[in-house]
Amino acid sequence: MSLEQALTEVRSWIDQAARVVVLTGAGISTDSGIPDFRGPQGVWTRNPAAERLSTIDNYLTEPQVRRDAWQARLGHSAWRAQPNRAHEALVGLERRGKLHALITQNIDELHQIAGNSPELVIEVHGTMRRAMCWQCGERSPMLETLARVQAGEPDPGCRSCGGILKSDTIYFGQALDQEVLARALQAAGEADVLIAVGSTLQVYPIAEVVPIAHRSGGRVVIVNRESTALDDLADALLRGSISEILPVIC
Ligand code: NAD
Repeated sequence: MSLEQALTEVRSWIDQAARVVVLTGAGISTDSGIPDFRGPQGVWTRNPAAERLSTIDNYLTEPQVRRDAWQARLGHSAWRAQPNRAHEALVGLERRGKLHALITQNIDELHQIAGNSPELVIEVHGTMRRAMCWQCGERSPMLETLARVQAGEPDPGCRSCGGILKSDTIYFGQALDQEVLARALQAAGEADVLIAVGSTLQVYPIAEVVPIAHRSGGRVVIVNRESTALDDLADALLRGSISEILPVIC
C-alpha cells in the first residue's frame, strides 16, 4: 500500500472513531527546534555522556552533574520553541470531539501551549517547566529557579528545606507516577484508534499502551520516519515527517 492510500485509510478510521488516543514522543517536537534523544540527530546519539544528566543516582550524588544539568536547562531549546503543525493538528482533533486522551512522553508542554486542554494531556514524564525538591517535594515554576542560576547560584537548593532541586521530570532510575501511568494505560484500552507519534517505543512501561490498545481491539497507527520497536503491532505504519502527516490524518 502506498503512503497516500494508508493516509486515506487512517483518515477514515479517525472519522469513524469515537475515541482517539494519541501517544507522543520527542519526535513531534523536533520540528519546533527541540532535538530528540535517540533519533539520528538525537542528543544522546551525538553525545552518549549527556544521559548522565538525566540519571537520578548521578544527579543526587555528583554536584558537577547538577551544575551541568542547570546549565543545560538554562540553554534548553524548549524555552524558545513554538508548537508546530503537528501539535496544531492534535488541537484540531480535540475540537472535533475525537480526542479521548493525549498521552505524552514529552516534558516541553507544547501540547498545552498549542491549545489542547490540560485535562486531556497525560504527562507521563512530568514537565521541565516546574522544579521540584527531592527532599520535601515542593514544586515551583522552573523559571524562578533558573533566574537564581543566572544570578550566580550554580546549584540552587530548595528555599524551604535546603534539599536538592531538580526538574519535575522522571529521570532514569526514578519510578513513574503510578496514578498517571494507570490513567494512560486505561485510556489506551478504551481507544478505537491509538496513534503513536514520534516515539521509538522502546521505553517501558509507557510503550505498553500500544499492545494494550491492540489487544483491546483498537486500531494502532504508528507515525515515525524510522522503524520503531512495535511496528509489528501496527495496523498502519505512516513513515515520514510528523508535521506533514498529522495535519493530513487529523
Ligand atoms: P526518542 O528520542 O527516543 O525518539 C524520537 C523518535 O521520533 C525517533 O524514532 C525519531 O526517528 C522520530 N522522529 C524525530 N523527529 C521526527 C519527525 N520530525 N518526523 C518523524 N519522525 C521523527 O523519543 P522518545 O522515546 O519520546 O524520547 C525519550 C524520552 O526523552 C522521552 O520519553 C521524553 O521524556 C524525553 N524527551 C523529551 C523531549 C521533549 O519534551 N520535546 C525531547 C527529547 C527527549
